[in-house]
Amino acid sequence: MTDHDHRRVIAIDGPAAAGKSTVARCLADQLGIMLFDTGALYRAVTLAALRGDTDLADDTALAQLAIDSHIDLRPASVEDDRLADVILDGEDVTWEIRSPAVDANVSRVAAYPAVRDALLPVQRNIADGSEVVMVGRDIGTIVTPKAGTKIYLDASVEERARRRYQDLRKQGVDTDVLSVMEDLRERDDKDSSRATAPLRAADDAVRIVTDGQSVDEIVLSIERLVRERWGEAA
Ligand code: C5P
Repeated sequence: MTDHDHRRVIAIDGPAAAGKSTVARCLADQLGIMLFDTGALYRAVTLAALRGDTDLADDTALAQLAIDSHIDLRPASVEDDRLADVILDGEDVTWEIRSPAVDANVSRVAAYPAVRDALLPVQRNIADGSEVVMVGRDIGTIVTPKAGTKIYLDASVEERARRRYQDLRKQGVDTDVLSVMEDLRERDDKDSSRATAPLRAADDAVRIVTDGQSVDEIVLSIERLVRERWGEAA
């Protein structure tokens, strides 16, 4: 447990491609507050490891890489559909961290407790005393267990695969819906079954299943909830 003030943190967790990042971006804009997508941290460390030929079985080396890498998440500076800029050691890697190679390896890297320990202070520093929408897998359970608002966004695997497939096609990746679905399943299995900080809804999270709902509808319902909790009129 932390003593930090996380009353104005909005924690959004859920499986891959449930729409978390898009919803979080719109919600943060509506509320005029910061967005912090923690998946980008794990992705950036994975990219750094792949580039530097770090052994993906070596958790100590990966944790050191997480400590040594300078990862910045900033408001989007380029109009190319990105939700934020991701800068790794001074280089814009916003799209590279979404590559199939990173997708295929990020859950393995994220499962190591040493890597998670290295990235935890970064996330808590952002959250402490802030008004921020934080997106991930363990935000409501581990990073900010006292977050004022916790949302668990879910969707059927078919819906999630369709969305991820469309994203990948936009990025020029040649794939098909079935293999995207297989990859999502595999990543979710790894994320939910790991011993440390597995993907799961916090007991006090509000669950939203996004199948058939528009982004605007989902954002509006979360915004109402947040404003109610913050004691503001919608
Ligand atoms: O959210 P995104 O799909 O970008 O996350 C990529 C991966 O990073 C997840 O599949 C998971 O393995 C890891 N992750 C995590 N904890 C978080 C956020 C992401 O383990 N809070």
